[in-house]
Amino acid sequence: SPPTLNDPTLLRERMLIDGHWCAADDGRMADVTDPATGERLARVPDAGAAETARAIAAAEAAFPAWRGRTAEERGRILRRWFELMLQHQDDLALLMTREQGKPLAEARGEIAYAASYIEWFAEEARRVYGEVIPSPWPDKRIVVTREPVGVCAAITPWNFPAAMITRKVAPALAAGCTIIVKPAMQTPLSALAMAELALRAGVPAGVFSVVTGSATAIGGALTASPVVRKLSFTGSTGIGRLLAAQCAPTLKKMSLELGGNAPFIVFDDADLDAAVQGALASKYRNSGQTCVCANRLLVQAGVHEAFADRLSAAVAALPVGNGLEPGVAQGPLIDLAALEKVEALVGDALARGATATVGGARHALGGTWWQPTVLTGVTPDMRIAQEEIFGPVAPLLRFETEAEAIALANASESGLAAYFYAGNVQRVWRVAAAIEAGMVGINTGVISTAVAPFGGIKQSGMGREGSLLGIHEYLDTKYLCMA
Ligand code: ADP
Repeated sequence: SPPTLNDPTLLRERMLIDGHWCAADDGRMADVTDPATGERLARVPDAGAAETARAIAAAEAAFPAWRGRTAEERGRILRRWFELMLQHQDDLALLMTREQGKPLAEARGEIAYAASYIEWFAEEARRVYGEVIPSPWPDKRIVVTREPVGVCAAITPWNFPAAMITRKVAPALAAGCTIIVKPAMQTPLSALAMAELALRAGVPAGVFSVVTGSATAIGGALTASPVVRKLSFTGSTGIGRLLAAQCAPTLKKMSLELGGNAPFIVFDDADLDAAVQGALASKYRNSGQTCVCANRLLVQAGVHEAFADRLSAAVAALPVGNGLEPGVAQGPLIDLAALEKVEALVGDALARGATATVGGARHALGGTWWQPTVLTGVTPDMRIAQEEIFGPVAPLLRFETEAEAIALANASESGLAAYFYAGNVQRVWRVAAAIEAGMVGINTGVISTAVAPFGGIKQSGMGREGSLLGIHEYLDTKYLCMA
């Protein structure tokens, strides 16, 4: 059954191209299902290359007028969009829980978080400064300006159906770019509802389009087009590599937020209760389906047993169920493939000698629920220590020395988030410097905010979202040498 919204027009079964709500050319539709019940919520267009080409043409046509507006005007429209998101927070959260599965409280939180990027970049629009550089020549002046890169594209994942879109669209629009979004087909309803609110806020036709349908056809058309000057992608490392290859012939600018394998280190001198709370927040939020989730919990020998006991007790108490039910902390995984991956990783660990102190199997609720799990006795050679789990499973690895912990933490191709808990101030600075990651949570498991730069190093991607850096991803630098 479809969700019952206060404003039913936020449930869109058409996609937005050039300011028009339209169907796929051949009329094909794809189902959007509720992962908690398996029932169909809605249908959205199953579009491909031809519809994408029209969205690109509309974005190209809309670009000159949009970049020609003052930054203040663009900021004001974004500000209205931000306010509409908060006005409709309940409806947007309900849509998200129904299509994605996360608990309603988390969905409400994500809408506020997603909106905060729009607010931030509405403000940043007016602060795109250039420079005047002292010239080495007596008869020439050097001026540097920043200009919008042009038509942009974004391909976004299902784990944060709202925030992963506003992180890209808000800075693009603030900078004066136009943008086409292809949302994940598990969660297109959030994207379409936000597009409706953007229209109401006054975003002109063609400036922001949403195309739903085939990932390969739409992604192929976006990456092949010479008109599209930039692609921003959040998703798996494998697809990120593929898109980078597809963007190579036209040498597009790229921002990539890819997979992580975050270490979460608990040293002997940590505040253990705080570390347990941090691990819960970092690991089990969104049922473990975030790219900054703790993926490997490295625990020093002296506190290993106490930490494992306290974490296991806390995890055993997590309420599991449909995210619409009050108090539920753990919803279902997004789909069967996600469940099977978690099952395979846990199975491999158990077969090689790990122990489940809590959980370790599918949940009695059936469907795509997995029991919140803690594993002890995990070793670096196990698949679960090497691959992104994307499920509610905390693998504990024991270590003896600080040097060993750092070596373990850095033994990964990923370098997105890392976390550690320690009390000694010298150790805090030492470890913070030694860890190979784009973001480090020190004595905290929650780091994301619109005002700080989000992004990774190594094979976790390139570029940053949020902060004053986030808008620069959508700007080119122009140097004027004036004789
Ligand atoms: P996840 O495993 O989190 O679903 P993916 O990288 O598979 O991550 O998906 C993230 C986004 O990339 C989704 O919008 C998905 O539809 C899209 N996507 C997947 N495969 C391709 C592809 N070959 N070309 C373009 N986009 C793709």
